[in-house]
Amino acid sequence: SVNYRHSYHAGNFADVMKHVVLMALVEVLRRKPSPFCVLDTHAGTGLYDLSSIQAQSTGEWRDGIGRLLDAPSHPTSAAAPAPGVENWLRIIRTVMRDEQAGRLSYPGSPALVARLLRPGDSLICCELHPEDQQTLRHLFRHDRHVSVHGRDGYEAITALLPPRQAKRGLVFMDPPFERGDEFQRLATAIMTARQRFPAGIVAGWYPIKHRAPVRAFVNTLKDAGQRKLLTLELTLRPPLDPSRLNGSGIIIANPPFRFEEEARTILTSLCHFLGDGQAESHVEWAVPE
Ligand code: SAM
Repeated sequence: SVNYRHSYHAGNFADVMKHVVLMALVEVLRRKPSPFCVLDTHAGTGLYDLSSIQAQSTGEWRDGIGRLLDAPSHPTSAAAPAPGVENWLRIIRTVMRDEQAGRLSYPGSPALVARLLRPGDSLICCELHPEDQQTLRHLFRHDRHVSVHGRDGYEAITALLPPRQAKRGLVFMDPPFERGDEFQRLATAIMTARQRFPAGIVAGWYPIKHRAPVRAFVNTLKDAGQRKLLTLELTLRPPLDPSRLNGSGIIIANPPFRFEEEARTILTSLCHFLGDGQAESHVEWAVPE
């Protein structure tokens, strides 16, 4: 579907969770000197203006990034965000400062990853919406490390993996979930990505409205014999009303060694800032090694 526009939701609690975790994963890749490649299958526009009519009309970002901008940044303060969250916030503040006055720019996944690339690293983006793709292309017009494809991100998994740019890396999938079969498509894509790029980390974002579709999704992967699957979930309230986005989830296949510990610290901290008493976070091995 090309009807989905991320500008209405940019910077909301789910975006914050996905971007902090994405950044933590890329930070792990940066610990080794050999180059890495990130494939962002559903990249969006890269930068979102939170003062835009779309963003203001929902106001979702105020309960996402808005809450963290107000957080104390002193690391010794007990109320400060966890180091993994603070790393991301430092970039957010820089991007916001970079932009001209009057705009409130929030970096999406490709803009965030691009800032973390070292000279030999690379980022491949896919974005199907023609306008969003043009915006993204323009953003990276001077960046040799970033390529933008106006193609189906799921198709790209077969076409562009394994990456010829590097032997290690990350596949990040963040589909819009507008179609009834998105969970199924994501499950298939995760399996294909692992098959084509066994050394890679494969991460997929999913909405938590109701428990049942999430359970079915994880079971599809389990039943297909997938191993090493870690799930990260942040729910703002018990997921009972299926008309609401009650929580945000990320499944990571082949996560970095001991990433679950880092993920727990991050999610506990996000739960504190983004939740209102009923919030919970869970980091669990759906299937261990
Ligand atoms: N990952 C982005 C970020 O974190 O800033 C946000 C992505 S948004 C949730 C989903 C995006 O996928 C939209 O920009 C939409 O236009 C695009 N899209 C929808 N179907 C697609 C497909 N089959 N392949 C690639 N992009 C697609």
